[in-house]
Amino acid sequence: MISSSESLRALITELSNLPGIGNKSAARLAYYIANAPKEKIEALVDSIKKVSSNIKRCKVCFTFSDNEICDICSSDKRDKSKIMVVENERDMLAYENTGEYKGVYHVLGGALSPLLGIGPSDLKIKELMARLSQDVTEVIIATNSSIEGETTATYLAKLIKQLGIKVSRIASGVPVGGDIENIDDATLMKAYNGRQVL
Ligand code: ZN
Repeated sequence: MISSSESLRALITELSNLPGIGNKSAARLAYYIANAPKEKIEALVDSIKKVSSNIKRCKVCFTFSDNEICDICSSDKRDKSKIMVVENERDMLAYENTGEYKGVYHVLGGALSPLLGIGPSDLKIKELMARLSQDVTEVIIATNSSIEGETTATYLAKLIKQLGIKVSRIASGVPVGGDIENIDDATLMKAYNGRQVL
């Protein structure tokens, strides 16, 4: 769909660069924006700008946060002796939405992949190990069940066990190759509760 307006064409191009947005969806969104009340679009632009300029990584767990330390890491209601290791913040959010897990998290920023050239130094592994010098009694590895996720779990388990800290892996229920973020709460909790010590 080619628009007669240069600015609409530019918007469609920008939107189609977003993940999961094809040309058709981009055009639909752009026309929605062109027709929508100005205040509505200004609020949207404002929230995008705020995220883009204010958001940082929590210094402890590396999830997105508006502050130096995120709400979860700074809460005294969370059990700091339990750390759940996830690949990204979307997986973290999936576990957080179950409302059952009371420990804290560590966001690796991906998974090990020799194929893509992603090694231990590309992930927040050094930072995880540094956290383990405090009173941590269990590390729950909740990486995805993809080859990369499994490779990462095995690698981390070996490192952490050397410190004499209990390491567990979320159980089956999370399908092989399945993305944690797309799994329902009940299945996630089953996977968490059925975790096995490595
Ligand atoms: Zn944090």
